Amino acid sequence: MDDNLTIQNKEQTEEAQINQAFQELLSNYLATKHRKRVEIITKAFNFANQAHRGIKRRSGEPYIMHPIAVAKIVCNEIGLGSTSICAALLHDVVEDTDYTIDDIENIFGPKIAQIVDGLTKISGGIFGDRASAQAENFKKLLLTMSNDIRVILIKIADRLHNMRTLGSMQPNKQFKIAGETLYIYAPLAHRLGLNKIKTELENLSFKYEHPEEYQEIESQLKETAAERDLVFTEFTAPIRTQLDQMGLKYHILARVKSVYSIWNKMQTKHVPFEEIYDILAVRIIFEPKSMEEELNNCFDIYVAISKIYKPHPDRLRDWISHPKANGYQALHVTLMSNRGQWIEVQIRSERMNDVAEQGFAAHWKYKEGGGSEDEGELEKWLHTIKEILEDPQPDAMDFLDTIKLNLFASEIFVFTPKGEIKTMPQNATALDFAFSLHTDIGSHCIGAKVNHKLVPLSHKLESGDQVEILTSKAQRVQPEWELYVTTARARSKITQILRKEAKQQQKEGEIRLIEFVKAEGITLSEEITNKLCKLHNAKTKEELFTLIGSKKIILGDAERNLLKEKQSMNWKRLLTFSFGSKEEKSNHEPSDSEKQPAGEALNTKQILKLTEEAISKNYIMAECCHPIPGDDVLGYIDDENRVIIHKRQCPVAARLKSSYGNRIIATEWDTHKELSFLVTLYIKGIDSMGLLNELTQVISRQLNVNIRKLTIESNDGIFEGHIQLYVHDVDDVRTICNNLKAINHIKQVVRVED
Ligand code: MN
Repeated sequence: MDDNLTIQNKEQTEEAQINQAFQELLSNYLATKHRKRVEIITKAFNFANQAHRGIKRRSGEPYIMHPIAVAKIVCNEIGLGSTSICAALLHDVVEDTDYTIDDIENIFGPKIAQIVDGLTKISGGIFGDRASAQAENFKKLLLTMSNDIRVILIKIADRLHNMRTLGSMQPNKQFKIAGETLYIYAPLAHRLGLNKIKTELENLSFKYEHPEEYQEIESQLKETAAERDLVFTEFTAPIRTQLDQMGLKYHILARVKSVYSIWNKMQTKHVPFEEIYDILAVRIIFEPKSMEEELNNCFDIYVAISKIYKPHPDRLRDWISHPKANGYQALHVTLMSNRGQWIEVQIRSERMNDVAEQGFAAHWKYKEGGGSEDEGELEKWLHTIKEILEDPQPDAMDFLDTIKLNLFASEIFVFTPKGEIKTMPQNATALDFAFSLHTDIGSHCIGAKVNHKLVPLSHKLESGDQVEILTSKAQRVQPEWELYVTTARARSKITQILRKEAKQQQKEGEIRLIEFVKAEGITLSEEITNKLCKLHNAKTKEELFTLIGSKKIILGDAERNLLKEKQSMNWKRLLTFSFGSKEEKSNHEPSDSEKQPAGEALNTKQILKLTEEAISKNYIMAECCHPIPGDDVLGYIDDENRVIIHKRQCPVAARLKSSYGNRIIATEWDTHKELSFLVTLYIKGIDSMGLLNELTQVISRQLNVNIRKLTIESNDGIFEGHIQLYVHDVDDVRTICNNLKAINHIKQVVRVED
């Protein structure tokens, strides 16, 4: 009886908790400018609630709390309306319960059903367990996205909530999900202009991959908060006075750099926290007097504050006249504070601020008012994605990299000879530009004129360049062009054309060979092609045909002589040959069952203890990132069932995490300073007498560490060097760095990859 009562009580509290969460969602929705379609949202909630009834999340919460949370993100943080909210509430119903898409369509109509269908198709992570499946899923995601962008927006919300609640997952799952988030979802969010969500996704991924570093930077941020507040108040006081005088409605915010971007900067620039100078930026968000005045107001504010503080001559960024491809608009200016610090000020209207945080969804919101501004850039991007998808690419990872290239790129602006503006990704070349105009222009491009000067195809374009493409009918796509381009569109077009041509040549070659052999009164056999392959060092008969087709091999006497050789049928040889080739093939393409790591031997759910014995016997430290005890690492089970240890931030590991997430193993160091590992330190300082001597003294005498290699270069009184030495773990590295820094004239000591 008592047990039943507690269960009943528990059910009642859960019911209350669920209802409260839903009421919050409803009141948030009612506070937006969207139509008040409370009825259908309530219907979707009731349906999902009873479909998921009794199911719990890993955290112990009722399952329905997850769809409600996703719907809240969709409503509050992305700014979407009732259709998307309903789809978010229903997003896991088809996947996890007995209901079908038809059920959803019958109750909620085709639109919501379509979105839920899209979400169901791409569930289970973009990346499946195997690399090929992964690319397939990713393709599906992008295809559904280009049909209805809301699918991907809701998917991002789903991922955000999963990241916010990642703590209750197993560590190896955490790495897989965090890795995938950093690899694909954060760039996607960025590309769609969801800057706030992108930052949070990056931050959360970082928190799970490097918990200690995250904590450390976070506490450093806390320690320095008071000082930043002071700087902010002091710096903005005269700005406020000025804006008040101008009669503007505004608010000023302090933007503090995220933990992840601070860490990222520390890594790429090799500087400590104290030397990150742009942690604080200032954001001025104003309400324009009228929409016509909006742009002018931005520049008025810029002029006004430049009179108070001296602006940095090279750091005015005008994203107002030329918005970023993801819709971002603002004016960025860097000013010299009275304390002698450069501080970035971002000037935005309220509309621009919404677009900056919520991306294209906010863009549409403002467009409803009847603006005629086109969504050109997003449309174009989606179009490019569609084009790439329509062209099947043989290698799954190539395909992913091609797409990713376009997700990360930031933009430059170039002009056509007629003065038309075109957006291109950074590092785009003249050839990229040619392909962006038209495939025919690209494939016949012989060069370009940039600002009226003749440049080669591979010339890198810069913002503001005027580009004229020169073409010739005689020109054909060359294999080396693949190296000249950086955009997904150009790259996929070039490969497509080259592949088509190669196929043609191969066919021509085959026909030519058949005729050549026929003229000698013989029919072409496997034996003959094998002999010819050997003669010309071709690995396959396809290669041989291509060589003949492209006239790199001219059939003549040598081949004729070979044909006239006694045609011996050596069965034994033939048998060994075919057996041999079969075996070779299976080595290259292991079957699915072989690809699976031996589950009995290594259970990926466990946390692997990295003991000294295991390290020296069974595990391999990755060559790419040289991890040592104490580093944040993970294990990867390779095809031969070996465990390879990578640093978590290693780019190779990032790829492995997202492609082979099920082979990732969480690890824990358990070493006792017996094994030694090689690390490289970078040192920089002011050159002075006896410095080198002191350096080696400290390392070998005081610290008793073995130096393997020491290179020092001195230039204009500054010396820079690399020391390779043997240590036990990261604690050793820390001690050594601190001791070296204590030497007079040494300014910087950091551990580097190699
Ligand atoms: Mn979900």
